[in-house]
Amino acid sequence: MTATIIDGKAVARSLREKIAEEVKTLKQNGIVPGLAVVLVGQDPASHSYVKGKIKACEEVGIHSEVLYLAEETSQAELLQTIEQLNKKTNIHGILVQLPLPPHISEEAVLEVIPAEKDVDGFHPLNVGNLAIGRDTYLPCTPHGIVELIKWTGTDLNGKHVVVVGRSNIVGKPVSLLLLQENATVTMCHSRTRDLPALTRQADILVVAVGKPQLIGKEHVSPGAIVIDVGVNRLESGKLVGDVRFDEVAEVASYITPVPGGVGPMTITMLLANTVKAAKAQAAAASK
Ligand code: NDP
Repeated sequence: MTATIIDGKAVARSLREKIAEEVKTLKQNGIVPGLAVVLVGQDPASHSYVKGKIKACEEVGIHSEVLYLAEETSQAELLQTIEQLNKKTNIHGILVQLPLPPHISEEAVLEVIPAEKDVDGFHPLNVGNLAIGRDTYLPCTPHGIVELIKWTGTDLNGKHVVVVGRSNIVGKPVSLLLLQENATVTMCHSRTRDLPALTRQADILVVAVGKPQLIGKEHVSPGAIVIDVGVNRLESGKLVGDVRFDEVAEVASYITPVPGGVGPMTITMLLANTVKAAKAQAAAASK
């Protein structure tokens, strides 16, 4: 293997130490950052993600609350719950764990979380602010990806980044963030023709598709940085990314593993957004 592994756990740990310090200072000034997580239904993966978020909050000293709602909860009840959370001054960030049961509109739910408490960065106002380059709550996974690329010491200025996947939660926002870093960004998706010809042009390849082992060494030019966002569980139970790790590691300069790459950064950026929200709301309250 020639590539250096980007150890997302280690990068996340060092960022979390800084966040814990910041929380400590805020507490000395009477501000305790607070996050509320709403979980609807019994999806085991969602329960496990929420558990991870709560544990991470505890580790850095952020106050957290989880509201477990039954699968049959109506959309109106969920919206009411969010409105009640919004009134709580000790809650600075509100997150509704996705996916939601099919009878509830994700769009309606994401819009009712006020933009100033939207620590996931999914509210249309925050998405718009990101698109026009204003300060906002950055969506956590894309923000984490940019931090991992920066960790390699790479200057994004003028680099050609190819992003595979154009979802609202990863592909599109990460492309916007990279554009703001002055990278030249190419976006690919399921209708893209001759994917390998495009991905081989990348100095940095970000893959967020959700198809196990889609990307092989024929997609990667020697020395490229490869960020694998995909999380796929095989029938054997093994977790794999979208990238064939072993063969791509033979040609890439840096590569993220799955698990232990992008995943730990996502929660870390959520903690960072919660602290940012607490500071902003405390400043607004003192005016
Ligand atoms: P979506 O299913 O919303 O989007 C997948 C994207 O991949 C779509 O834009 C789709 O194109 C594109 N695509 C599908 N097939 C191909 C193909 N053969 N070639 C090129 N593009 C293709 O997925 P998400 O963005 O939500 O998630 C992607 C992966 O990242 C998943 O495995 C998910 O679990 C993981 N993930 C990991 C996170 C983490 O913290 N580690 C956080 C979020 C997601 P089209 O638009 O044309 O359909």
